[in-house]
Amino acid sequence: MNIQTNERYKQIKPAYLFSEIGSRVRTYEQNNPEAKIIRMGIGDVTLPLPEVVTASMIKACEEMGHKETFRGYPPEYGYGFLRESISTHYADNNVSVDPDSVFVSDGAKSDLGNIVDILGQNRILIPDPVYPVYVDSNIMSGNNITFTNGTKENGFLPLPDAVSPEDQRASVIYLCSPNNPTGAVYDRNGLTLWVEYALKTGSLIIFDSAYEAFIADDDLPHSIYEIPGAKECAIEICSFSKFAGFTGVRCGWTVIPDNLKSGTYDLQALWKRRQATKFNGVSYPVQRAAQAALSDEGIKACLSNINYYRENARIITDLLDEKNIFYTGGKNSPYVWMECPGKTGSWDFFDLLLHKINVVGTPGEGFGMNGEGYFRLTAFGSRENTIEAAARLKDFL
Ligand code: PLP
Repeated sequence: MNIQTNERYKQIKPAYLFSEIGSRVRTYEQNNPEAKIIRMGIGDVTLPLPEVVTASMIKACEEMGHKETFRGYPPEYGYGFLRESISTHYADNNVSVDPDSVFVSDGAKSDLGNIVDILGQNRILIPDPVYPVYVDSNIMSGNNITFTNGTKENGFLPLPDAVSPEDQRASVIYLCSPNNPTGAVYDRNGLTLWVEYALKTGSLIIFDSAYEAFIADDDLPHSIYEIPGAKECAIEICSFSKFAGFTGVRCGWTVIPDNLKSGTYDLQALWKRRQATKFNGVSYPVQRAAQAALSDEGIKACLSNINYYRENARIITDLLDEKNIFYTGGKNSPYVWMECPGKTGSWDFFDLLLHKINVVGTPGEGFGMNGEGYFRLTAFGSRENTIEAAARLKDFL
C-alpha cells in the first residue's frame, strides 16, 4: 500500500501499561505456579447487574421479537425516555439539565475521544496524572498539551493557579472528578475556581464525572453544573459503567447546554451534526436497561453495589492509615492512590508486591509523569480478596 496514515499516532505512547503488567504477572505465574495472586489493579466492575436492570433489558429484547413492538434504528441522540430519565436524575440532585441537552452514547470513553472532532486547534490543559484518553485523543488531533501538575502538595487536585499568569488564555480544560487514578475529588470551591477561570479566559471545561456515584460526602459536587456559570463554559461527560455496572453493556451520556457558544459557533449544534454523521445510536434494550438503572429501585440496587466496593476501599484505606502512608481517594472513589513507601519507584513497588506478597496493583507512572512514586489499588475486587490482600500488605508494609 502507498497511502498516508495519521503520522500523529507515532507520537502516542504505546499502550504498554496493562500489557506490561500482564506480561510481568504471567512470567511470575509461570515460575511460581502455586502462587495465589490477588489482582487489585483492575478498573472494571465485578458485581453482576441488578435484577431490575436485566429484567428491563430482557423485556426490551422480547419487544424486539414482535412486529408490533419491534424498533429499528434508534434516535442518534438517545430515546426520549432515557434523555428524560437522565434529566430527572439531575433534577433529583437539584441540578437542572434540559433533556434536549443530553446526548446518549455507548459510553464516556467514546464521547471523551470524539469530542475533539468539534473543536479546532486549541491550547489544551490536562491534569497529570489522569485517565490517558484525554491526552491520546488530543495528540491524535494534533493539539499541543499543557499539563497541570497533580502533586502531594495540592492533593492531586491542580487549580488554575497552576497556570502561570502570563499564560492565562482560552483553552480546553479537562477535569476528572473523582479522578482516575488518584480518587481525588474537587470540592465546590475548587470547581468554582475552574469555572471562574474558564469564564474569564473564554475557555471550555470538559468535565468527566464517570465516578460521580462513588461520592459519599454530602458537600462534594457530583456535577459541574452545580457550580454557577458552568452552563456557559462546560460540557459534562458521564457513564453508566461505574454507577450501574455497565462496563460490558455500554451506555453513557454527554451534556452540552444549549447556551454553550464560542463566537458564533453553537457547540450543541456541532455535536448534533457530529453524532448524526458518525453515530447511529445505542441499542433499544441497552437504553431500557439504563432507564431501569435510574428508576428508584434501580438506583437503590446500584448504590448497594457501590457500597460493597466502598467497604473494600475502606479496608484498604484503614490499613494505610494504620501504617501512616499518604494516599488520596478511597472514600469518594473506588481508587486508592498510595505513595510508595521509602521513595520506591512505582514499577519497583509493583515488582516488590508481586514477588513478595503476590498482590498486583497499577504503577502510578502509567498515568503521567506525576504518578511516579505512586501506586493505584482498586476496590473493585471481591471482599474476600480485598481482606486477604490487606492482610498481606499489613505484614509487608
Ligand atoms: N472516564 C474515566 C475517568 C474512566 O476511568 C473511564 C473508564 O475506566 C471512562 C471514562 C470510560 O467509561 P465508559 O466505560 O463509559 O466508556
